[in-house]
Amino acid sequence: MSTRVGFIGLGYMGAPMCAQVLRAGFAVTAFDLRADALTVARASGAAIAGSAAECASGAEVLITMLPAPAEVEEVLLGAGGALAALSAGAIVADMSTSSPLLGRRIAAAAAQREIGFVDAPVADAKRAAEGRLQIMVGGDARDVDRARPVLAAMGGADRVTHVGPVGSGYAIKLLVNLQWFVHAVAAAEAFAVGLRAGIDARTLHDVFVSGPARSSFLEHEALEVLEDGEYAERFPLGLVSKDLALAIDLAHETGVPVEISALTERVYERARQRFGDREGELGAVKLYEELAGMPFRFVAEPGPNGAAEAG
Ligand code: NAD
Repeated sequence: MSTRVGFIGLGYMGAPMCAQVLRAGFAVTAFDLRADALTVARASGAAIAGSAAECASGAEVLITMLPAPAEVEEVLLGAGGALAALSAGAIVADMSTSSPLLGRRIAAAAAQREIGFVDAPVADAKRAAEGRLQIMVGGDARDVDRARPVLAAMGGADRVTHVGPVGSGYAIKLLVNLQWFVHAVAAAEAFAVGLRAGIDARTLHDVFVSGPARSSFLEHEALEVLEDGEYAERFPLGLVSKDLALAIDLAHETGVPVEISALTERVYERARQRFGDREGELGAVKLYEELAGMPFRFVAEPGPNGAAEAG
């Protein structure tokens, strides 16, 4: 009989991840607070639970994919929560981007009931629908191995990396995101100055990506702004603020004074206050467009008849 999987949190990320677990042949029971999310999960073949505890009851592997530490704590440790409904021998994999401290607290509570816990946050979100997420797992090797077949359904066996003890999956994920946000702010600042210095956006971009300033951010996500005027709403500023605050908490815990991270958090906080929680993660770039007094866009090239063509 196939492993019974519980899946809680069927949002932008959780919905395609749950669909991949079903596609791999696992028997999935799903739960979310949103009725529309449950309708989609049912259509993909999941059984639907009426609460987090009902979803966990009978699950051998429980996956959670929730917004932030507060929801992870409530769902797993809260009154009527999922952990209390699991049986000894079960394993929980929280795939949210959450707090290493909370992860260790959940692992300790789980261990008292002979339940395993791993933190398994994800990156490369655009690849969720093809089951090719990058998954960074923290936990005891035995627990990681037990969760691995279900995690591999969402990332592929080669994309599931055991990075250390409980909490280290969250920690490395927070550091991945921190660097991306720093890149975004650094690039936005360079574009603001370059455009004001009279260089066009296409030339700036071409030169940046063909030399030592090249970064994955400039080669990929920056194009969403430069070509389309899009600011990546799939990952809203509300979640960015959560991740930056968690990254800085982590730095404080380790005793490392982090100046660039703190500055980046301040810039993103300004963007969040200016554009709201739901603006996309490229909202910090929008802030610099305002500072520069112009959008960061490739200008359409004149066509053979003088008509503008897409740049
Ligand atoms: P989301 O807001 O789209 O989805 C979260 C889901 O959790 C929602 O459907 C919500 O109804 C549900 N939920 C909230 N509280 C609940 C509760 N108490 N019980 C049951 N369900 C509950 O968020 P998302 O974009 O899917 O992100 C999920 C996690 O993945 C976050 O930690 C985020 O930081 C991380 N992440 C997101 C992306 C991205 O591109 N969006 C990429 C990588 C990692």
